[in-house]
Amino acid sequence: MTSKEILIRLYKNYTSKYLNRILIAGVFSILVAGSTSMIAYLLDPAIKKIFIDKDQTLIYLIPIAIILAFSIKGFALYFAKVNMIHVAENAKKNIQSDMMSSLINADTKVIDSKHTGKIVSNLTVDTSVIVNLVSVVLLNIFKDTITLFGLLFVMFYQNWKLSLIAIIMIPFASFTAQKLGKRMGKVSTAGMVNAGFLSTHLLEIFKNHKLMKIFQREKYENERVNYKLEQVKNSAKKIATIFVRVSPIMETLTGVMIALLIFYSGKLIFKGEIDINNFFSFLAAMMLAYQPVRSLATLNMGIQAGLSAAKRILPVIDEKTEIKNKSDCKDLNIKNAEINFNNVCFKYDLDSDNSNVLKNINLNISGGKMTALVGLSGSGKSTILNLIPRFYNTTEGNIEIDGQSISDLSIQSLRKEISLVSQDTTLFDDTIKNNIAYANLEASNDEITEVAKKSFASEFIEKLPDGYETIIGENGLRLSGGEKQRLSIARAMLKKSSIILLDEATSSLDADTEQKIQKALNLLTKNKTTVVIAHRLSTILNSDRIYVIDSGRVVANGKHIELLKDSTIYKNFYDKQITKQ
Ligand code: ADP
Ligand code: MG
Repeated sequence: MTSKEILIRLYKNYTSKYLNRILIAGVFSILVAGSTSMIAYLLDPAIKKIFIDKDQTLIYLIPIAIILAFSIKGFALYFAKVNMIHVAENAKKNIQSDMMSSLINADTKVIDSKHTGKIVSNLTVDTSVIVNLVSVVLLNIFKDTITLFGLLFVMFYQNWKLSLIAIIMIPFASFTAQKLGKRMGKVSTAGMVNAGFLSTHLLEIFKNHKLMKIFQREKYENERVNYKLEQVKNSAKKIATIFVRVSPIMETLTGVMIALLIFYSGKLIFKGEIDINNFFSFLAAMMLAYQPVRSLATLNMGIQAGLSAAKRILPVIDEKTEIKNKSDCKDLNIKNAEINFNNVCFKYDLDSDNSNVLKNINLNISGGKMTALVGLSGSGKSTILNLIPRFYNTTEGNIEIDGQSISDLSIQSLRKEISLVSQDTTLFDDTIKNNIAYANLEASNDEITEVAKKSFASEFIEKLPDGYETIIGENGLRLSGGEKQRLSIARAMLKKSSIILLDEATSSLDADTEQKIQKALNLLTKNKTTVVIAHRLSTILNSDRIYVIDSGRVVANGKHIELLKDSTIYKNFYDKQITKQ
């Protein structure tokens, strides 16, 4: 995207809606420019009439006019800014909302590849920089340009020779500003990358708090954090320094300009080409022009910083989804909920030359029964599960449910029929009730207590201080592993889907909890098509069929007894990896 395209895009998507506000701000800007120029102009008659001609009639009028001009300027500036604040905050909210919605709808593959810390700073810092571009910068360009023109008009009106000297300085100022602006773009990108690292680190400190304590890595983490902070500091310092670097250059230029002017106007006054009242009015206009010139000179930096922020954010918003409904997709029509994998090959990164993670997988998963996947870790079992609800598209081959290829189905109808109970139970920072009701937002209290009973979750929920209304904290911090599992089973029960995908926990719990979870799972999976990544003998014995996965291939399938006889891989696996309960 070129800078021009970015600007047009930002305007179209985020600011054009507020065009009326921008126009109002524009009108007030014209008032600012007019009143500023008026202030400079008024010094001419004020000095001439009051001080030179000693005219007493104007002694009241001119001061009042000056007060008026100043207050009009102040109020106009206020209203112009208020309108632009409205535009800015709305635009920011809309950019953030677009970004969040793009992430909520993003493919799993995209989320896998994102850096949380970076996204957090994109969402918070970058959006502010962008709206600064579309509001403050936009307003200043207009306001300062016309103010400058108004003041130049006063200057030329008073004396064109002096004015020419004054405007010779403008190209110098804009040249420096352009140079600094380019640097700004680069530095601000580097700064954002560092800020991203910092937020990731913060998340990690919370997540890995106990790990850090047990390995006594507090000092190490402190050093790491300080190293990152040092980098963040350095880039923040660079950005701020570039911004203030304008001051010495601009001040020196102003000094040179004023010196030249005083020298030259001395000559002009001597020759009688200019009167003292014209000179003062001219000087006032020139001094007042200092602020808009300075602001216009620094604009480029704001623009560059905004553009580079937009280059980071817009791609996140524009991320295309590959997992989407075909235009002629149909709704899934469940009969037995039988699942078939036909020559499925899969790799996570299509661009890489790595071999497929799944190689020619053929599975026949009977409807209403339990099918187990077993195999060493890394063999591809979770990947197989993830393909069924189309978290990823298959690279080759297809998956059918009751003879309907899942890629032809509407994703809504497909996922509606699938529940996922995974090893790392995920909970939201919300009440117990809402965590269960996530499966069905319309569920009644009775339905929720019913599934909580069936999943043996009610017995611990009822002991909690606020029962179902207890807030469980980020990722269920306040619950034990077994309790979290029972909640996720309750949630899956509430969904009442015909297919259950189960990634059995590897860590064993105490016998009592284990038994309850087993019973809950039996209830959940009864007469449902269940695909389970099995780690326990009891699950394997319950299974209608077992598939042995090894390095992305199906190497054997059958019932436990048959496999023990026929498959050495299975026998080895069974001897070493299966929890025999
Ligand atoms: P299992 O569940 O049998 O332990 P997985 O299906 O999780 O195995 O992983 C199979 C292979 O795919 C492994 O080599 C793993 O490193 C790789 N893999 C898993 N998830 C991803 C991912 N999101 N991106 C890239 N590679 C992945
Ligand atoms: Mg796995």
